[in-house]
Amino acid sequence: MAHVWQGVINEYKDRLPVTKQTEVITMGEGGTPLIQARALSELTGSTVWLKFEGMNPTGSFKDRGMTMAITKAKESGAKAVVCASTGNTSASAAAYAKQAGMRSAVLVPEGKISMGKMSQAVAHGADIIQIDGNFDNCLEVARKLSESYPVFLVNSVNPYRIEGQKTAAFEVVDTLGDAPDIHVLPVGNAGNITAYWKGYREYAQETPATSGETLSAVSTRTPAMWGFQAEGAAPLVLGHPVTEPETIATAIRIGNPASWDTAIAARDESGGLIDSVSDVEILEAHRWLSSREGVFVEPGSASGVAGLLKKARAGEVPTDATIVVTVTGHGLKDPQWAIKGAEAEDPTAAEPKRVAFDVVSVASALGLE
Ligand SMILES: *Cc1c(COP(=O)(O)O)cnc(C)c1O
Repeated sequence: MAHVWQGVINEYKDRLPVTKQTEVITMGEGGTPLIQARALSELTGSTVWLKFEGMNPTGSFKDRGMTMAITKAKESGAKAVVCASTGNTSASAAAYAKQAGMRSAVLVPEGKISMGKMSQAVAHGADIIQIDGNFDNCLEVARKLSESYPVFLVNSVNPYRIEGQKTAAFEVVDTLGDAPDIHVLPVGNAGNITAYWKGYREYAQETPATSGETLSAVSTRTPAMWGFQAEGAAPLVLGHPVTEPETIATAIRIGNPASWDTAIAARDESGGLIDSVSDVEILEAHRWLSSREGVFVEPGSASGVAGLLKKARAGEVPTDATIVVTVTGHGLKDPQWAIKGAEAEDPTAAEPKRVAFDVVSVASALGLE
């Protein structure tokens, strides 16, 4: 019988902190497509793959960590969870909390959440609190709230989030047969680069399974981790926190990443790099993905591709390598940029041609002969 994907906890339970008794809260997250990026491969002379995380149940990779965090919250008897969010964490927390029969409170920065993400938190009945401040301020309040009140913190400072998210690296290796040479991804709060690096390392070594036996190595190597921040929110590149982070890529508009040290460790231990890309470069990559690869992402998700394009222009991308780029969230989260991007190339792009109810007119409008 065909294998039906069971969600990341059931698929990788030997490598995650669960027991037979654990009630798994899942919506079938993970198992996302690894898509061949033909135009990027042609440009670089390497084989480039896109790990399309927009295909998760709430439209971003956050679901991988959330299934784990909510499962553990439920196991510990929590009745409510809290998170700070630039949007996708709140969408995911709200959905998974509902699935678990729990209440969720989400703290969002004033005025910077995309409509798609906000509508998800609203739809799932989260208690949405808008904080007069940025993401970093929200996270500080969420942390303190969870220390003093009966609410379970589900931000990526929660180690279970990282555990769940590391499964994306497992999937890449399981699909390709080994680790890629380079893994490229956007970096905001830096939980994801931390998680991928943890996953790649675990898969390249003998590891004790949760059940007690020893799991042999699955891959023969680990990739170089290439992370890209937005220029106006690039604390890891600058080497100090940014108090007023600014970028159109709201998902990575973060000035003081919670997983700072582990992101730097991922960079250094893997022989990788963390660099920044401008908003213009991010929008160019966003447009590249939709118009050349057929993959629709939100702007923040395109920063890895923006970084790859930037490095390719500088002649710093090796040829004949295998490169995986994570595109972190779905384009429908924040669709206005697609319209703007298309209109920038052709002002009439978003205006459908209007023709009579007639085959010949439609054929003529399409330029068919
Ligand atoms: C959360 C998020 C990021 C940033 O991931 P970090 O783990 O915070 O570095 C990037 N893109 C999207 C779409 C996100 O939701």
